[in-house]
Formats: sequence, C-alpha cells, structure tokens
Amino acid sequence: TQIMSRGLPKQKPIEGVKQVIVVASGKGGVGKSTTAVNLALALAANDSSKAVGLLVDVYGPSIPKMMNLKGSPELSQDNLVRPLLNYGIASMSMGFLVEETAPVIWRGLLVMSAIDKLLRQVDWGQLDYLVVDMPPGTGDVQLSVSQNIPISGAVIVSTPQDIALMDAHKGAEMFRKVHVPVLGLVQNMNVFQCLKCKNKTHIFGADGARKLAQTLDLYVLGDIPLHLSIREASDKGQPVVSSQPESEEAQAYLRIAVEV
Ligand code: ADP
Repeated sequence: TQIMSRGLPKQKPIEGVKQVIVVASGKGGVGKSTTAVNLALALAANDSSKAVGLLVDVYGPSIPKMMNLKGSPELSQDNLVRPLLNYGIASMSMGFLVEETAPVIWRGLLVMSAIDKLLRQVDWGQLDYLVVDMPPGTGDVQLSVSQNIPISGAVIVSTPQDIALMDAHKGAEMFRKVHVPVLGLVQNMNVFQCLKCKNKTHIFGADGARKLAQTLDLYVLGDIPLHLSIREASDKGQPVVSSQPESEEAQAYLRIAVEV
C-alpha cells in the first residue's frame, strides 16, 4: 500500500486525498463494482486509522443501492458536495445526482465535466485512499481520469473467461501507456462451490487470470469465488465485507486489500 502517486506534470491531485486507486475492467458484468465496494470496505477494515472514500458509477446509479445510501448530498460552506457516509466510507456517485430510475446517457464532454465535478467539487475531507470504480473498457473516461489525476495504481478485475481476459489485457496496456502502475489482477468468480453437494465448478474457466498475469508480468492480487452471498449482500446494500466479515468471501476481499 506504500506506492506513492507518480503524477505527470499536467495532473492535479485531489485536495486532501493521498492515494487514488482505480478499479477497472475490460468488460462489463465481471464484478468490478462489487470488487470496488468491498475493496474500499476492506481497506478501512484492515486499518481503522485509514480514511477511505469511494467514487463510483459514472454511467449507472447502482452504488447507492450497494452501499445502502439514502438521501441527497448537501453542500458545504464553500459550495462543495459532501459525500454520503455509510459503513465508515465517504461515497460519491452519479447516482446521487440523478433519479434512481433515470438512465444516464451523458456522453463526451458532458461525461468529462461530470467526472471532473465528481472528483474535484466534492468535499472529500482527508482521505488515505479514494477508490474509484471506473466504467468498463478503455474509452475517453478512463483516459481522462488517468491523465487528470495522479493515480497510485490500478486494480484490474476479470473473470477467468477468455473474452474477459482479452479485454483486461487491453485495459492493462492502456494503463501502462498512461504511466499508471497496474497493482495487479483480481480473478473474480473463479470457482463456484455447490451449497448442497460442495462440488467445485470452474464455471468461467480455471486460472485464466494467472496465465494473463504471467504473460503481462503482473501480479494476481487474489481470487474471489462466485458465491450467492456476495450477490445477495450487494443487492441488500450490506456488502459482505461489512455484513459477514468472517466469511470466506469477505476474507478474500480483505486479503486483496492487504496486497493493494
Ligand atoms: P461490473 O461492475 O463489472 O459490471 P458488478 O459488480 O455490477 O459488475 O457485478 C455484476 C453482477 O454479478 C452483480 O449482480 C453482482 O452482485 C454479481 N457478482 C459480482 N461478483 C460476484 C461474485 N464473486 N459472486 C456472486 N455474484 C457476484
């Protein structure tokens, strides 16, 4: 966790924020947001002296639900938006700025200015880590974030499936091009254990992320099983790391946070 931000000259740090960790994936639906939420909680749980923030959801407001955040943020005296607090994490999301059911179809410049607002016009206070849940892929948003703020490192989430790994590969290359250190890969949904017969199945393939990590000379930060409680807990707004910290699933996230 001791990597210092390596800012390019153009990059301006976010006031009060020591380290920005982005959670990225090549493809959608691989568990990036779930990982970002549980990683933020795990960073705070592993060291109670650390203040952690979470910035999420540029395209779709799902984090307010995952983090069980209610209400709208207020403005501080100097007109900055105050993040909402739950489970000890300061969260800011596009979801706070739009109706829960409204689709966010902001594109191009609008998205860029929204991101800038989400990053800079927020009263983050003093944070040791700001975990940013990036949109999937390697588009303008990812580039813009990487070029505008100094990022300590990127965590890339992938399932062990070839198609997800191919996109994760592209993601890793993009970060390298813009000089963002890739902290490593998280292999999500690597194994499913039947709750009844205890049989283990590698639904999306086995160890694909390890092979990719070898090819790219990257580290695998850890594996997360495909588990009913991870999905259920997220849907209830009680992520496993906060609601079931002793469970094997939560422990997997807590171990990853140590590696980050
Ligand atoms: P992404 O951000 O990559 O689009 P999400 O984090 O939204 O993906 O996850 C997609 C779906 O898969 C969600 O319903 C989430 O609850 C579920 N999910 C993610 N990781 C796991 C896991 N390890 N076990 C079970 N369900 C998971």
